[in-house]
Amino acid sequence: MTLPLKNFTQFENVGHSLRAPSYRFRPTGIDEIRDVFCLAKQHELTVTARGAGKSYNDAALNGGGMMLDLSAMNQILEWDKVIGLVRCEPGVTIEKLWQRVEPDGWWPPVVSGTMFTTLGGCLATNIHGKNNFKMGPIGEHVVEFTALLPTGEEITCTPRDNPDLFYGMISGLGMLGVFTSITMQMKRIESGLLEVHAWPVHDLNEHLSSLLDHSPHYDYIVGWMDTMNGGKSLGRGQIHAANYLHGKEDPTPQLTMQLSSQILPPRLFGVFPKSILYLFMRPFANNIGWWGVSTAKYVASLRRHTFRQAHAAFHFLLDYVPNWDLSYGRGGFIQYQSFLPKETAEEAWREMLTISLKRGLPSYLGVTKRHRPDKFLLTHAVDGFSFAMDFKVTDAKRAALSKMLQDFDRIVLNAGGRFYFAKNSETSAEAARAFLGEETIRKFKELKKRCDPNNLLESDLFRRVFG
Ligand SMILES: Cc1cc2nc3c(=O)[nH]c(=O)nc-3n(C[C@H](O)[C@H](O)[C@H](O)COP(=O)(O)OP(=O)(O)OC[C@H]3O[C@@H](n4cnc5c(N)ncnc54)[C@H](O)[C@@H]3O)c2cc1C
Repeated sequence: MTLPLKNFTQFENVGHSLRAPSYRFRPTGIDEIRDVFCLAKQHELTVTARGAGKSYNDAALNGGGMMLDLSAMNQILEWDKVIGLVRCEPGVTIEKLWQRVEPDGWWPPVVSGTMFTTLGGCLATNIHGKNNFKMGPIGEHVVEFTALLPTGEEITCTPRDNPDLFYGMISGLGMLGVFTSITMQMKRIESGLLEVHAWPVHDLNEHLSSLLDHSPHYDYIVGWMDTMNGGKSLGRGQIHAANYLHGKEDPTPQLTMQLSSQILPPRLFGVFPKSILYLFMRPFANNIGWWGVSTAKYVASLRRHTFRQAHAAFHFLLDYVPNWDLSYGRGGFIQYQSFLPKETAEEAWREMLTISLKRGLPSYLGVTKRHRPDKFLLTHAVDGFSFAMDFKVTDAKRAALSKMLQDFDRIVLNAGGRFYFAKNSETSAEAARAFLGEETIRKFKELKKRCDPNNLLESDLFRRVFG
């Protein structure tokens, strides 16, 4: 069989800062995935699975190879609304999942900050939500999955059957096999609303103490950090913490759990089409403009308040602004997310924030979360916090940014931190070895040899970090 040239397509990361062309295939079932594996072997090409392509880095890029686009395998195969168990194809998005289960009184136990990710992609990176400190990563709610290995073997894994593959493939970046079905336990909810408490924090110490001290009392907690202001204000921001509603706290749960109460409106204030909002954000995507936006946001957040918010609105804030990823302009952006133990986080992030401001390369976004460790092989979690920063990429600043992120890596590693393979695009093989440890890398390579002896599954990220 020849490779159809019309399939040769340019793929990008979500931040539009990385590009790689690949032959795209869009299977509708396992047999077609098998055909792609055969074709790849015949042409000595590598294959990368891709869900929705929402990773910030090169996890779903494969320059010159083949791209297995799983978005057409998007059926919810079984849904038991009595016990909350769902079995899905890997291309089912978080959006499709919550819209199916919520009207029956259930919610996915772990979701990403966008609903457009697929379950296959979410398992491969083992996503965390704003409840990581309480519910762990998504993998902890997977009851069973099936996968096709490059050897042609079809496997079924649960925490008890094939546990090494269960804990290795979830977090394994699609490098051991391709998920073909996923069975997950949903979380019971008694209302379509959350009760959200919002309060300001005035510096980094108060910011992290708030996450630490308040997390035991909430179902979700997340911080926004003003990354544009330093000095005594460094690390200031706002905390949002939310709880599920129980019993009669919501007088009309049947109504609030309807999709019509959850779906994000297409217009801002009922008038302004959100699809063009990103164009109005562009003029602010520079250091002065963003300083103004951050300062105004902080001032607005000084009021302590409590409100009720639909689950979808609380979780998927960025989905409110379609094409927000284009607001950074031509060079796009990258995200740098570090995970640090609670004992060392403050000092390390103080240093990183100070460096970014001093070098004129500030982050335009700062999001903090509270985490706990988990037992998946390539885990990014710690007993501490994460801090996500977004950096605009321009031709003029690309080299300086890259150098700064390498400096950040050293600070994070010295502080006993970890990185997340769905986010950072700069993590080197040395950095990965330092935080994962030789033993973990050895186990991962052993699994790779067993599942994929000819290295059929490779991505740009795999070559960067494990190649
Ligand atoms: C706005 C935004 C907010 C986000 N918020 C969060 C967050 O709160 N928490 C968090 O943890 N992450 C978050 N992310 C990151 C995102 O959840 C992960 O990158 C996720 O993996 C993306 O899913 P995807 O379907 O787009 O996968 P892709 O980006 O397409 O692929 C990701 C990885 O999964 C592999 N893969 C895809 N499908 C399969 C399959 N069927 N079998 C095997 N491997 C497969 C790919 O090879 C790749 O390695 C966010 C991303 C965005 C853009």
